[in-house]
Amino acid sequence: MGCGGRAMNYVNAGKTLLCFGITSATLYFVFLTVQIAEAQTSAPFLISPYYGTTTISQVYSINHRAYDLLLRYAPVLAAESGTLKRVEWFSNDPLCHQSSTNTACGFGLHIRMQHPNGYWSIYGHLSTTGFDLTTNGNAVVSQKQFIGNSGHTGYSTGPHLHLEIRPSQSGNGVDPFSPNLWEDGQWATPSRPIPVPTNLGETVVYEDTGGFTKGNGGPFNNPCSPGSCFEWIGTTGTPPYAPYYTPIYGNSSTPDEWARWQTQGVPTSGDFYNVQVHMPTTTISKTWQARYVLIDNLNNVLATGVVDQAGLPNSTFTQSQWVSVGTYFLKTGYSIYTHDVTGEGIEGHCPVYCFLIVDAVKLIKRPAPFQIIYH
Ligand SMILES: [Zn+2]
Repeated sequence: MGCGGRAMNYVNAGKTLLCFGITSATLYFVFLTVQIAEAQTSAPFLISPYYGTTTISQVYSINHRAYDLLLRYAPVLAAESGTLKRVEWFSNDPLCHQSSTNTACGFGLHIRMQHPNGYWSIYGHLSTTGFDLTTNGNAVVSQKQFIGNSGHTGYSTGPHLHLEIRPSQSGNGVDPFSPNLWEDGQWATPSRPIPVPTNLGETVVYEDTGGFTKGNGGPFNNPCSPGSCFEWIGTTGTPPYAPYYTPIYGNSSTPDEWARWQTQGVPTSGDFYNVQVHMPTTTISKTWQARYVLIDNLNNVLATGVVDQAGLPNSTFTQSQWVSVGTYFLKTGYSIYTHDVTGEGIEGHCPVYCFLIVDAVKLIKRPAPFQIIYH
């Protein structure tokens, strides 16, 4: 009697295979019983939650019921279709990856999904989510859909993705490595890679392209020409991405200062685009939960992406970066705008005020059909 296909998966995955080293018939029987019990809980349902391959920085243990993956500000995908249950910074969940000195939820900016088989997946320490923190709590998400970018928020020692798989909402996480859980039966290092979507051409919208406006007094009231806005302070950065910044006082629920990028080169009938925002080379963008809002040609809000500027490398290093806020079906006249309603009112972690940075937006055309947030 051999170890069977499941055990071979452990071999393929590079894990120690228990039954090879166990000669006791009793122990072997116990091992098989455990495996059978696990197999009865669920058919394999997960895929790799990222493009390409990566490595594991921290494995599963009773003190860390998850895997940490070395994804540094990289796209995070839904490992299975399901319902978005939480997109948040904090919760009362006692199993929240806390440090011994900080009782706040250590996941930082994180997403929790419930899957059709009852399992939950948790994606922690994100720098970006593709969902609004308050209005998309029950959004239906497809497998492989972009849900955010990995990052360094919460109780984290460096940018990574904390991937936790729970059999129920409040139960302890199970070992994500278990081949019982993975569609290809062998999630490991490397996993079966999810190919990066094709780039069919890209357009950058910035101050000098004609698509950029900014102003104050609520969305799209009081627009002002570049260089003339008192609230938006321009810098002398090198074009085309010379940034603007505005203070965030953390006590506003109404947009006061706003900036808008109108899509360029998008067909009237629409097409699929990955929307990215540019975090410039500056160390002053400390704002948490900066909203990047997609609007149609009638200024209706279609979707909101949340970018944690403080969690990106530009806040601690001098390094610019493009950050994805999701893939959408865009038409002529649609825009991306950002405003000064952020998470600072909740967190208030800046001593006096934070700075919201706006810089540029990039549209990368994707092939259809594509997993999107809004259509
Ligand atoms: Zn972790």
